[in-house]
Amino acid sequence: MALTPTQRAEARSIATELSAIARRAEVLPGSITSRVTHCGRPGCRCMADPPRPHGPYWQWTRKVAAKTVGRWLTPEEAADYQPWVANDRRLRELLARLEAIGTAAVEADPRSTRRRASREPRHQP
Ligand SMILES: [Zn+2]
Repeated sequence: MALTPTQRAEARSIATELSAIARRAEVLPGSITSRVTHCGRPGCRCMADPPRPHGPYWQWTRKVAAKTVGRWLTPEEAADYQPWVANDRRLRELLARLEAIGTAAVEADPRSTRRRASREPRHQP
């Protein structure tokens, strides 16, 4: 179960980046999106030609217990917290790369090659 020198080097680089993000602790799950609206009142600017819609309104949404939860943000908050959402995405990418290294290590383990096709683990003597 030895990692290759390349895998070790990649893991070190991942650890450095993970640590830098964790130290800042500026991590936010979910996404921040903006939307504009048209109220539809006759004569409103949103119904003019060309239309000038209301907004943009900024919303942070995330999943909590499999349900989407939203919170409105000011434009300043949206700008401040966008990088936090990007950090969260980066953390997930880095974890996925670590998992890929682990998966490659198992796949390369000579002890498991003979069992790869079998559905059940071999019985230990
Ligand atoms: Zn309107």
